[in-house]
Amino acid sequence: MVPLNSELATLLAEGKKALAVTGCPTPELDAGFLMADLLGIERAQMLLDPPASIPPGAAETFRRRIARRVAGEPVHYITGKKEFYNHTFKVNPAVLIPRPETEEMVEAVLKQSPRGVALTVADVGTGSGCIGISLGLERPEWRVTAIDLSAAALDIGRENAARLGAVNVSFVQSDLFAALPGQFDIIVSNPPYVDHGAKNALQVEVRKFEPPLALFAAERGLAVIRELVAQSAERLRPSGVIFCEIGYDQKEAVQKFFEDGLWTDVTFLKDISGHDRIARAARR
Ligand code: GLN
Repeated sequence: MVPLNSELATLLAEGKKALAVTGCPTPELDAGFLMADLLGIERAQMLLDPPASIPPGAAETFRRRIARRVAGEPVHYITGKKEFYNHTFKVNPAVLIPRPETEEMVEAVLKQSPRGVALTVADVGTGSGCIGISLGLERPEWRVTAIDLSAAALDIGRENAARLGAVNVSFVQSDLFAALPGQFDIIVSNPPYVDHGAKNALQVEVRKFEPPLALFAAERGLAVIRELVAQSAERLRPSGVIFCEIGYDQKEAVQKFFEDGLWTDVTFLKDISGHDRIARAARR
């Protein structure tokens, strides 16, 4: 193992210290991550096999990045990207930073869907496109329609689909299904589900930097899920299935949305933290 060159070591120590005094829980990790990204290498590689020198301007860029992080901005908005389901997605403050819980929903959809069957899929509130694009790449025979209300989010989604080669994913601006005709075999969604009243309980990274449109919903966070389920009853073919991410304490309320006689096999899948996180139901 080669020691870090002194300029790199000094900068990393400086960044770590600046983050630590703000109460950042992972100052060393964040400083290393922000530096490695601007050097174009992985953090582990930077530490195990450090470059002999750092490029001109890198110190200044690093200090600007640290200042943004000190102000609470999430590291993934600073680097402009986030890994999701083995792909790198571009992100900016117009879209949520993809979460691991949402990867579990992609996994759940794929697990129940054998290969080689041409299905139509709607990803409602696609944001960065992470759900729809990951599904489209795993199942090239599917046709995925990715929907969002936000034009700025659709720009990011389209860019991600093009860069990742997801040619079977198309993007439509729509408030849920309002601007979209037709029926689907699968509807999948990570809708906004946070209660406006819970805003102050969110981490500063989320509260101050992530898009409110993607986070908050009326009716204690349930309004969009309720409307999505109601519209999905019309938009799913018989035996079609909906997968919807929900808040950790919303299972009982969401279960009621499926009690109108139109649904069967209503189940809730737990996330890695043991919370009921994904509602799944089949149209009769
Ligand atoms: N899981 C997100 C959070 O922790 C909320 C995402 C959403 O509302 N869809 O803030």
